[in-house]
Amino acid sequence: MNNYDVIVVGGGPGGSTVAGLTAADGHRVLLLDKETFPRYQIGESLLPATIHGVCAMLGLREEIERAGFVRKRGGTCKWGANPEPWTFSFATSERMAGPTSYAYQVERSRFDTLLLDNARRLGADVRQGHRALGTVRAAGRISGVRYADDAGHERLATARFVVDASGHGSRLHRDVGGRREYSPHFRNLALFGYFLDGHRMPAPNAGNILCVAFSQGWFWYIPLSATLSSVGAVIKADAAARVRGDPDAAFTDLIGECPLIKDFLRDARRATDPPYDRLRVRKDYSYDRTVLWCPGMILVGDAACFIDPVFSSGVHLATYSALLAARSINSTLAGLVDEHRCLTEFEARYRREFTLFRDFLIAFYQLHHDERSYFGHAHQLTHHTGTDREAFVDLVGGVSAGDFSRHLLGDVLAEGAQLQLRGLLGDAAGDEPPMFPGGLIASPDGRRWLMPDV
Ligand SMILES: Cc1cc2nc3c(=O)[nH]c(=O)nc-3n(C[C@H](O)[C@H](O)[C@H](O)COP(=O)(O)OP(=O)(O)OC[C@H]3O[C@@H](n4cnc5c(N)ncnc54)[C@H](O)[C@@H]3O)c2cc1C
Repeated sequence: MNNYDVIVVGGGPGGSTVAGLTAADGHRVLLLDKETFPRYQIGESLLPATIHGVCAMLGLREEIERAGFVRKRGGTCKWGANPEPWTFSFATSERMAGPTSYAYQVERSRFDTLLLDNARRLGADVRQGHRALGTVRAAGRISGVRYADDAGHERLATARFVVDASGHGSRLHRDVGGRREYSPHFRNLALFGYFLDGHRMPAPNAGNILCVAFSQGWFWYIPLSATLSSVGAVIKADAAARVRGDPDAAFTDLIGECPLIKDFLRDARRATDPPYDRLRVRKDYSYDRTVLWCPGMILVGDAACFIDPVFSSGVHLATYSALLAARSINSTLAGLVDEHRCLTEFEARYRREFTLFRDFLIAFYQLHHDERSYFGHAHQLTHHTGTDREAFVDLVGGVSAGDFSRHLLGDVLAEGAQLQLRGLLGDAAGDEPPMFPGGLIASPDGRRWLMPDV
């Protein structure tokens, strides 16, 4: 019984989403994660498109609502030429106004467990403490996974599709061919920890992410509960020596060099309970891949690509790519569209979404500009029909003002908006137009690709 339709390696947001959406379509799905959940992960600030789009499609929106995560209405930045902090709100966007104008700040251990449990509920065979060791090939395609089970015994499972969702530390991603390419623009290092009793912004922005640029880089400050805050410094990787010697002293010094963060932490103390009791360091996390799939195997989430965290796009990209992968698998297995065409559509949409965030971030790191210039740049990139500020908010929320023109980035945002709409209205959302000439469209329930009527 070790033969499946789909094997998913990794039970983070990407893996749980693709496992849930393929199991819900009636396929036999095995999900392997080397950890036992709840497990720690960084990436706590989410986007509205994830909650009201993908999570709604997974049937999880109400459960997430009940979990009591902090509501994120937008962001506050002390960033660029303006010496004063400025705030953006998701409600500015016509596409997100009303019931979808917020996201959440989440403890990933809890959020990821909700998604993993949901994948099991939707029918996936979820195995924790199971580590994938490598893929196997047969007849010119990837055809299975070797893994060590929770007793350490090596086993083999076979499947029509293997999805690598095992994150930035993936050992399997090379098996699709091509290479990982690190971004020359974002050679940064992140040093992060947790505090109790840090200050909050005044209502209604108390749940906002706060991003503060300073001489050495920038800080994030994310309220995870009434008392717990996630605080991280992102600095140039060539400052690594400063961190290597004594990370605690380096962190304290960096906070001291950033007056706004220092002020927010004036009455705070470091958290002492696991998993929040220690400082962590991450580097080499901004990269792309030249190849995202091969026959029988697909990469999603951080296994494929990730770009600097300032706009909290990681979980969005992971769940969005997982949705695109699930559509491709479901359509191929149902015999609706052939694998090559499905995965060409997967790759094209995924690359556009990634490119949007990457190109905007490169401009956002130009600190001699002010927010009006950033808003204008978002407008330029997305060909938005509204104001510059709306263009910016739609971009960083993962949705658009419904610009279905064939411009590169407007189409990416249009897909985000469609996702939100589909999450809210289900089948009533109607068909989306193809994103590319001759491309595929999503089925009314969003779970498969269809050929458009020509
Ligand atoms: C400093 C920093 C800050 C960030 N902040 C944000 C943020 O605010 N918001 C945001 O959205 N994103 C943020 N991110 C990005 C975010 O962490 C990731 O994009 C997101 O977690 C990717 O999800 P995933 O499902 O692809 O992978 P993961 O969440 O990494 O899940 C991968 C899973 O695979 C499992 N696994 C690994 N190897 C194996 C194996 N061999 N066999 C079986 N299982 C395996 C792991 O145990 C893990 O559970 C940040 C990233 C960094 C570096």
